Amino acid sequence: MDTETLWETVLAELQLTLSPADFKTWFADTTPLEYSKGVLTIGCPSSFAKERLEKRHLHQIQTLCKRIIKRPIKITFVIATKQTTATIPLGPLFSHGETAPRQNKITGLSSHFKLDNFVVGSNNRLAYAVSVGVVEAPGKNYNPFFLYSSVGLGKTHLIQAIGNAVLERYQKMRVVYCTGESFTNGIITAIQNRTQAAFRRKYRDTDVLLIDDVQFIAGRETTQEEFFNTFNALYLSNKQVVLTSDKPPKEIANLEERLSSRFVGGMIADMQPPDFDMRVAILKEKAKQHNKEIPAAVLEIIAGTISSNIRELEGALRQVITGAAAEGAPLTPETAAKVLRASRALKETTRVSPREIINNVCTHFAITPKELRGPRRQKELVLPRQIAMYLIRDLTEIPLTEIGELLGGRDHTTIIHGVGKIERRISEEPLFEKQISTLKRGLQ
Ligand code: ADP
Ligand code: MG
Repeated sequence: MDTETLWETVLAELQLTLSPADFKTWFADTTPLEYSKGVLTIGCPSSFAKERLEKRHLHQIQTLCKRIIKRPIKITFVIATKQTTATIPLGPLFSHGETAPRQNKITGLSSHFKLDNFVVGSNNRLAYAVSVGVVEAPGKNYNPFFLYSSVGLGKTHLIQAIGNAVLERYQKMRVVYCTGESFTNGIITAIQNRTQAAFRRKYRDTDVLLIDDVQFIAGRETTQEEFFNTFNALYLSNKQVVLTSDKPPKEIANLEERLSSRFVGGMIADMQPPDFDMRVAILKEKAKQHNKEIPAAVLEIIAGTISSNIRELEGALRQVITGAAAEGAPLTPETAAKVLRASRALKETTRVSPREIINNVCTHFAITPKELRGPRRQKELVLPRQIAMYLIRDLTEIPLTEIGELLGGRDHTTIIHGVGKIERRISEEPLFEKQISTLKRGLQ
């Protein structure tokens, strides 16, 4: 197998286990440089990325490679920017336009998301119809439009498609898209730099404001205040506001009442997981977008395996295509089923649970999980506790707040502190490093 195919196959697998943000941040700009004498060399865009891949993903990549080429492999990361090594084109399914579609700097929109390539079925028909209505008369028909669903069901696709359609249809209209998270970060930076006026202009001098994952503004008073004012300014001048969230307004924790009642004041639509036929229809559309001829029976196998998340559905399609190519096998339902089975088995074996980590650390230090989670702070407990924090952070993708909960309801800043302490000791004390690596090996 050549270097590019190997790395493409690895990326396809990784994309399924990592969050889209993690994948985009750490893997979208990597380049396969060389594979020879059992060593695969991967180019990373910066030393920061290199370090992160070495620290957090090396083992996972090794396991994947070993499974794909059926022998152990050594991975080395070097710093190499994409531009200088862009001689290796990735296949169309892996064009970076797909995982990280090019974003317009001013609007924040990716041209990839369109109303035309959004497949409509009973699970999302209302949401689609409202979106079309919004495009027909922005600010008039449905304002605000609040769209919610669980993850991977097309919210980002649809809200961005509204933006793109408005820009296409009305040359003069301005559209701003951002996520609740970047709105929150934006306001914090604006306060620090005293650039609130510019911040306000950006979000208020627009005809259509699209806020994706608005649930992230909840909890912070200043952000909600700013958002409330922005919302009112736009709403009162009949500008369109579209919001998405993972829950209906009233169920978003720590969202001020004055905001949630604004959100329910317009049109609300939700989207449900797609049924089997809809999943097959979506897979057909995705295969068409990638100019791939895929037998219907293969699409049905994929649709039958992945049921609740369209992002995963796309990932599985990608895996089946690269998996079959990697084995040089034709795309039959049998190969598809085999690829999907292998991927599932791998996911199960490579995922270590926080409970396992906690148990291993406790056995190693001869303490009980109860003591580890408990409040006592003598040295014999603090060290294992911090090591557990470090290992959970290092070996899983669990967010800090959740790690805090797992370890006896500790605050996320405590976790950051603990992880940092262990990292420093690892870099300063070779013996300590050895002890941690041994613990880690026992978990993998
Ligand atoms: P969410 O924002 O709800 O988590 P996304 O909009 O990111 O979900 O959708 C995940 C993936 O699934 C995207 O690649 C998107 O293009 C695709 N997708 C979701 N719904 C549809 C649909 N109805 N038709 C075509 N593709 C879809
Ligand atoms: Mg989204």
